[in-house]
Amino acid sequence: MLLDKEGFIIDIDGVVGKSKTPIVEGVEAVKRLKKIGKKIIFVSNNSTRSRRILLDRLKSFGLEVTEEEILIATYATARFIAGEKPGAKVFTTGEKGLIEELELAGLRLVDYDEAEYLVVGSNRGINFDLLTRALRACLRGIRYVATNPDRIFPSEDGPIPGTGMIIGALYWMTGREPDVIVGKPSKVIMEEALKVLGLKPGEVAVVGDQIDVDVAAGKSIGADTVLVLTGVTTRDNLQQMIEKHGIEPDYILESLNSIFEG
Ligand SMILES: [Mg+2]
Repeated sequence: MLLDKEGFIIDIDGVVGKSKTPIVEGVEAVKRLKKIGKKIIFVSNNSTRSRRILLDRLKSFGLEVTEEEILIATYATARFIAGEKPGAKVFTTGEKGLIEELELAGLRLVDYDEAEYLVVGSNRGINFDLLTRALRACLRGIRYVATNPDRIFPSEDGPIPGTGMIIGALYWMTGREPDVIVGKPSKVIMEEALKVLGLKPGEVAVVGDQIDVDVAAGKSIGADTVLVLTGVTTRDNLQQMIEKHGIEPDYILESLNSIFEG
């Protein structure tokens, strides 16, 4: 039974909101889960925002959450690097949200020629100069960490390039892929989520709207997985998505609120 789980690791986009618009059933479900004492943590692959920015968005949906209940790829990346090498010197392609989290984790932001880590995250202001610096950092052979593997991000008015734009460019130029990818479906961010919750994989359910991202992430830690049909996956493309990715979710729900039915 899903409601026997002590904790829920929940995706944001496509579950409780679509960009700036709330998904009412998802928001309602999270409120009810919290009311009956379940531990929850939101996990997002977003690589341009900090926890503070995301917290404001969730609050605008009417959700009472704390920063500890949000695990975002920017923060998880900073935590991961600080865990490997406290105070490390990093060069990042990322923008404000990522820079904010790297600094908060005690890492030192430097240029490509001094860096011990190349941290790749999305940047909506990417230009030739920044890519040149990233290329040079990559060619130095330093440890290369990417916030997430997203190729395309579904924005309000249509698809936009994800972090994959930079990972792809670096790969084409140097043949290098990231040494570590932090965001879903990587288990790096999921293990961090378990650590924050203080729970084991068998005690949580992982909820999301994408089979290859959220369900795959849940399976990577051996947790039960819940696919909701309020985002990228819908009743219409469900079968096609399952076949395409070759992954079966443990539970399929119309919305997260269906968890309370039957
Ligand atoms: Mg999603």
